Amino acid sequence: MSNQLRSFTLHNFRTIPQISSLSEEMIKEIEVVGRVLPFKTNNYVVNELIDWDNVETDPIFTLNFPRRGMLEKKHYSTIEKLLDANAEKDVIDEKVKQIRLSLNPNPAGQEHNVPSLGEIKLKGIQHKYPETVLFFPSQGQTCHAYCTFCFRWPQFSGMNELKFAMKESDLLLKYLRIHKEVTDVLFTGGDPMVMNASVLEAYIRPLLEPEFGHIRSIRIGTKSLAYWPYRYLTDKDSDDVIKLFELVAASGKSLSIQAHFNHPRELSTDAVKQAISRIRSTGAQIRTQSPLLRNINDKPELWASMWREQVDLGCVPYYMFIARDTGSKHYFELPLDKCWQIFRRAYSKVSGLCRTVRGPSMSDHAGKIQVLGVQEVRGEKIFVLRFIQGRNPKWVDVPFFAEYNPKATWFDQLKPAFNEERFFFEEKRAKLEVTKPFLFE
Ligand SMILES: *Cc1c(COP(=O)(O)O)cnc(C)c1O
Ligand code: SF4
Repeated sequence: MSNQLRSFTLHNFRTIPQISSLSEEMIKEIEVVGRVLPFKTNNYVVNELIDWDNVETDPIFTLNFPRRGMLEKKHYSTIEKLLDANAEKDVIDEKVKQIRLSLNPNPAGQEHNVPSLGEIKLKGIQHKYPETVLFFPSQGQTCHAYCTFCFRWPQFSGMNELKFAMKESDLLLKYLRIHKEVTDVLFTGGDPMVMNASVLEAYIRPLLEPEFGHIRSIRIGTKSLAYWPYRYLTDKDSDDVIKLFELVAASGKSLSIQAHFNHPRELSTDAVKQAISRIRSTGAQIRTQSPLLRNINDKPELWASMWREQVDLGCVPYYMFIARDTGSKHYFELPLDKCWQIFRRAYSKVSGLCRTVRGPSMSDHAGKIQVLGVQEVRGEKIFVLRFIQGRNPKWVDVPFFAEYNPKATWFDQLKPAFNEERFFFEEKRAKLEVTKPFLFE
């Protein structure tokens, strides 16, 4: 198996040998839907992860390749007609742009979390929870392959006006000098591990200096273990990446790889097992997370086996997320009740060592809201919820209640239970923003 990364997009996917086994109809679906949603896969995913014998329902194929159901019918037929009529590129591009904008490309008010330094808006930083700063290095705003469900897709489909990115780490360092409450810096993207080792080092090394003693953990959010484990094995700078990880460990800070795995198959290859082992040998920890996705991983057995396998490999299960309201959500979403049932069934099957995982959780404007479950209290059916993370730390871990709604798929569709006017945190929010607008907005 070749370890040289080869990417496939809309322009060259027909050169993938296995594509010739697909029906003309499926190929057309890729052409149509791939115009609107970002599409990129690679030779590892194609050769080692996808089950081409069951491609009609294969979850890994669905994870990378556009399928008809991912677009609404009217959007699908609009693009299909334009392509059939050989429409001008400008005409198609304009339509594609309109459709993309209608798909809520920037959910959960992410733009509200961009902080300032004096007059300067720090576009490459999000600071929502006091202890953790997210940093989006500009060279890390792409991935080794694209997930069809991804809410970050505006960042890599050429819509620059929506891009959260920052050229230098200078402003990050200035910001962190002032914000001593920050203990964690989380590099995210896209995927920061698409950056070469020297760029990554330029961002990370300054944080190891004594003046940043308040930064205890460096975290890297990445899907590279699932999409390109050779990043840690055979890429030409893979040894440098490993040395950089060792350097962080030697500095006394913890390094946490927040690894994104959607399906147990992503943990099954020799390459991923070796990559995990190599990363762990540096002293770095690997924590895992994934959204819950219809058509990809909506079975409790899959989650249970994924968590078990992760623990076997020395990783720590961390989050199960609820799919966000963007892109092809209608194709991937599940009612909150169903999400909780899947979580609970999976959680109840596994050892306590796997039960470090928390979820199912929605990253809403107010915070990370966990669905603790469905209950009946004096004849009223309710959702029991809590903040795992809150825009105001005082909200965290206080159970609260919403009216049961079997169809709801996101927090904004819920009403407070017991005829309350608002949720407990809603009246306090305005006050918080007045007292600490700088930190939380
Ligand atoms: C999830 C998240 C974090 C990290 O939260 P942890 O619970 O510490 O992992 C930080 N910032 C934002 C905006 C997040 O959504
Ligand atoms: S790897 Fe992460 S950022 Fe990249 S497409 Fe997938 S979910 Fe989105």
